[in-house]
Order: sequence, then structure tokens, then C-alpha cells
Amino acid sequence: MAEPILSLRGLKAGYGDFQALFGIDLDLAEGEVLALIGANGAGKSTLLRAVTGLVRCQRQMVLFRGDGIGGERPDLIARRGIAMVPEGRRLFRSLSVEENLVIGGERAPNGEWTLERIYSLFPILMEKRLNPGTALSGGQQQMVAIGRALMANPRILLFDEISLGLAPVVIKDIYAAFPAIVATGVSVVLVEQDVARALAVAGRFVCLQEGRVSLAGRPDEHDRAAITAAYFGAA
Ligand code: ATP
Repeated sequence: MAEPILSLRGLKAGYGDFQALFGIDLDLAEGEVLALIGANGAGKSTLLRAVTGLVRCQRQMVLFRGDGIGGERPDLIARRGIAMVPEGRRLFRSLSVEENLVIGGERAPNGEWTLERIYSLFPILMEKRLNPGTALSGGQQQMVAIGRALMANPRILLFDEISLGLAPVVIKDIYAAFPAIVATGVSVVLVEQDVARALAVAGRFVCLQEGRVSLAGRPDEHDRAAITAAYFGAA
């Protein structure tokens, strides 16, 4: 791998006395889609929160293009070009769809992603652009959350539970946008409870189990039984 855009080196993190991650090593290449899978509580969200500065860790445990950024302030990490589409979408309730998108782009006004491009990616948002973010279906809210993150023109995009609670037809629409997103060269970490779907779009995966990497590789390198065992642990 050329110099990875993101590396985790022995990442340990937790909440107060509770340790959730026990020394995670992981590299993300430029332009790669990496699926991060694992059962509930395995530590996937904690890993994303450590990368975005929402959970504390030591500086050298998270490297962005070789620079230690662990424990940096979330706004500074965002400014480096790391954006997250959070679980539960977290739109600004009092703002319209368009205002939510514009806020995402405030720090990167001249990048590749513009309002027009977001609307061509998700045409329904054009129709709903003046609606409050909360007057949307869950799937449409997820599209706004993705659009808001893209408007920051990130180099790394982290998706936390991209399809959780959404109807299958909407999930299909959201995944249909994936190739256009990846084509911009952004590097992606995808946390997804639907493992088959995640493995279908990812070039590589990392499976966590109780805060440790239990398996990693290309989806076609491991059979389903090995992935299931890594996911759930030995019976
Ligand atoms: P899920 O799919 O349920 O979100 P996950 O793999 O993302 O699972 P995390 O949310 O990272 O897992 O949780 C890892 C561990 O940390 C779990 O044991 C969880 O209970 C604990 N945890 C998560 N958030 C907190 C918090 N704010 N305070 C204390 N413990 C937490």
C-alpha cells in the first residue's frame, strides 16, 4: 500500500474506566472503501469517534497522512478533511434541507461537491429543499446527512450504520449513489450492520470483536463461515 491516508496504530479508547478498543491496527488507502463490521458493542462507533476526535486517545494512535491527530479537537480534525455521516443522521431540526447542506460546505466552498451536484445525486432533495430537515422520511434524512458530509469535500468519509432502520427500497437508493461518491477519490470507512451489503461494495474489510480485530482482508479471501465466526466469536 502507498502511504495510507489514515492509519490506526495500537488504538486504545473507551469511556471513563471502560475500555472499548484494545489496540486496533488498521490502514486505509487513498480512494479505498473499507467495511468495518462486527456485532453490536464490538467497538465500531468508538473507532469512528476516536478518528473524529469525539473520543480521546493518544496522538500517535491515529495518523492522517502520517501526522498524529489522535485526541485533536473534532473541528480541527474535520478541517483536515475527515467527515462523518453519524448514526441517527443528526440534522439541524430548525433548518431546511438546503440550509443543512450549506452548513456542511461552509469550510470548503470551492470544492468538487456543490449543492447542484448533491441535488443531482439525490434528486428528491431538490424537491424538498425548503422543507425542514425533520419533515423528511428517514431515508431522505440520511441523504441529507450524506450530502452535508460531502459538501465539506472530505478526503475521508466515515459512515456509521448507513442503512440502520431504513426501508430496503431506500437503502437501494442510497447505495446507488455510492459509485459516484467513490469516483471522486474519497476514502471511505463504512460501518454497516448488513454485512453482505457492506462486503459487496468494499475492497477490504476489518471485523471487530469485543474491541479487537478478529479478521481482516478482502471479502473474497475469506469464506462466509470464517467471517461469521469472526463476527460472532466461537460458539
Ligand atoms: P453498535 O452496533 O451497537 O453501535 P458498536 O460496534 O458501534 O456497536 P460501540 O458503540 O463502539 O460498538 O460500543 C463499544 C462498547 O463501548 C460497548 O460495550 C458499549 O456499551 C460501550 N459504549 C459505547 N458508548 C458508550 C458511552 N457513551 N459510554 C460508555 N460506554 C459506551
